[in-house]
Amino acid sequence: MENIYDIVIIGGGPSGLTAGIYASRARMKTLLIEKMECGGQALVCDTIENFPGFPGGIKGPDLADWMSKQAGRFGLEIKTVEAKRIIPKESEKEPFSIELSEGPALKASAVVIATGAKWNKLKVPGEKELSGRGVSYCATCDGPLFKGKDVVVVGGGDTALEDAIFLTKFANKVTIVHRRDKLRAAKILQERAFASKKIEMCLGAVCTGISGKARVEAVLVKSVKTGEEKTLKADGVFVMIGLSPNSDIVKGLVDLCPKGYIKTDEEMKTSVDGIFACGDVRMKMLRQVVTATGDGAIAATSAEHYVERLKGTEYK
Ligand code: NAP
Repeated sequence: MENIYDIVIIGGGPSGLTAGIYASRARMKTLLIEKMECGGQALVCDTIENFPGFPGGIKGPDLADWMSKQAGRFGLEIKTVEAKRIIPKESEKEPFSIELSEGPALKASAVVIATGAKWNKLKVPGEKELSGRGVSYCATCDGPLFKGKDVVVVGGGDTALEDAIFLTKFANKVTIVHRRDKLRAAKILQERAFASKKIEMCLGAVCTGISGKARVEAVLVKSVKTGEEKTLKADGVFVMIGLSPNSDIVKGLVDLCPKGYIKTDEEMKTSVDGIFACGDVRMKMLRQVVTATGDGAIAATSAEHYVERLKGTEYK
């Protein structure tokens, strides 16, 4: 007999795991699929300071681990596999079919997309060639490799500043290169960065290239105002210039905004009945763990109502 789930959640970051907690507590037959380790970007956050309830902050990997354990406690089934394609329903009562990287397709009455977002690339000469050889997208993972070295962080958002501050634990000098004269990051992070003796600001400048023979040796920057170019000696470059949504799986299926984020209403419903979205993949103003978990709770509850309506078991 075919194994039909009430809800399949695609993605195991904070929004997907929270959706899993809610759907399991609602006693929906729920499966969460994640292609890597559960936790999403929380796994590469050293300390999360703004998730309520942890006055001293919480290590990202610890929070991710506790969310997974909490979901497991309510019976959430988790499978490590990649979702490749969602085949729409032929009629409302029929299930969606989800094709996987391996094994038979899954069937689900409702699908929650929680696929998150990925780091943007600079797309400058040397970036690809020296990736993993001094070019990094994860300070938590690679920071300790730069003990006593000079590093550059490109970007002016929360990630860039948080990671620049984190890198001062190891590096000799951290230069923040940002294309504007002011920073986008939260003011508290700006205060800390400006107060750090190890952080230098290179504002109003863009990175035009990364050079080095076997490893990164220098970063080329150009002033936005004057066009003047200079070379910053560096052993490492951390590229922290924002995110792009992992929405390929629903491209052509649900409505996306021009940047590719999934459009939803307040109940996390997408333009297709039975498909819900939550977390960083969704079009919204604030992408944080706390908003991701809120989204996940709403998406799972909406999915639960949808499935119960199909089954005729809703509480009226
Ligand atoms: P972000 O907020 O989108 O900032 C990206 C930064 O990179 C911006 O300063 C942007 O410049 C710059 N940038 C973009 N494309 C560039 C390019 N091609 N060349 C040079 N610079 C470029 O991204 P993020 O910092 O990764 O943060 C993503 C989300 O996670 C945000 O919602 C953020 O609040 C959240 N986050 C929160 C925390 C926290 O609360 N503790 C920590 C990390 C991240 P412009 O400013 O000129 O656009």
